[in-house]
Amino acid sequence: MENVIIVGTGCAGLTAAIYTARANLSPLVLEGRQPGGQLTTTTAVENFPGFPDGVDGPELIMRMHAQAGKFGARFQYGTVEEFEHVGGVNRLRVDGAWLETKALIIASGASPRYIGLDREKELIGHGLTSCATCDGAFYRNVPVCVVGGGDSACEEATFLTRFASKVYLIHRRDSLRASKIMADRVLANPKVEPVWDSAVTAYLTDADGEVRAVKLKNLQTGAESELELKCVFVAIGHEPNTQAFRGKVDTDEAGYLKQSGGTHTNLPGVFAAGDVADHVYRQAITAAGQGCAAAIDAERWLTAQGES
Ligand code: NAP
Repeated sequence: MENVIIVGTGCAGLTAAIYTARANLSPLVLEGRQPGGQLTTTTAVENFPGFPDGVDGPELIMRMHAQAGKFGARFQYGTVEEFEHVGGVNRLRVDGAWLETKALIIASGASPRYIGLDREKELIGHGLTSCATCDGAFYRNVPVCVVGGGDSACEEATFLTRFASKVYLIHRRDSLRASKIMADRVLANPKVEPVWDSAVTAYLTDADGEVRAVKLKNLQTGAESELELKCVFVAIGHEPNTQAFRGKVDTDEAGYLKQSGGTHTNLPGVFAAGDVADHVYRQAITAAGQGCAAAIDAERWLTAQGES
């Protein structure tokens, strides 16, 4: 029986690991399908306090990981397949084996959303991706597009101008949702061409099954067109990673875990932190803050149970 299991190694999970490890709870931290979370797919993070010159997302995560390990956090690779809360004990099936814990901190983050078009999942890796940091360098001196109008879309588009000959920024409205500084930066880049009021309605592939163009529909006029390019970078937001917990831990209408009173969920001893529970702020620093709060909530809950 563990004192604390933390699900997730993004900013929320690793901060919870640092705090619970320093509280001598010897947390077990589960690293899932995307260890390190979304920061590992980001470039320079310019808004995390303490880094006036910015810091690479992966480096920030590596530092948090090392800090948690230094204080005694234990790490295990594995995906949570099933969750049960029975007789006050939290049970997790991880890659076929059951683990038990008194307190559980769910910090499993959120995953990129795709458009929902035909053949979309099978085209991932064949000219369709959600990660410019991962795949941008494969598309040198060719045209690409980014779909979306938020900070992610702007960040991806700006990053891709390092490689691509042209970056079309396809957005369904005629103004960007992104923060002004990021919107101004991307629109000022001569390699970026915005395509306003438009939706991608189909991916067109070549004989090798690689994306060669997208079909577009102008949502104002209804006009249809084709845009030749080599890769589509989708940046239209995220879905919370709650698969194993659905129906057991309360969620809101969008599927994000509900917190009531700090980071407590509806189940005693189960806490939620970071993007899995937050569709409002979704920042590295707010996730880290929630990880800290969840660790303190878990520690106090264990003490109140006479467990630590
Ligand atoms: P977001 O702010 O929710 O933006 C999603 C964008 O995708 C919106 O422009 C939305 O259009 C569009 N969209 C949604 N569903 C679509 C669909 N089915 N088809 C076409 N377009 C669709 O998501 P995000 O950009 O990932 O940002 C999430 C959070 O992370 C934000 O709080 C953001 O500030 C933060 N973030 C910060 C940084 C940074 O500061 N470095 C970088 C990345 C993200 P509408 O505008 O019409 O709704």
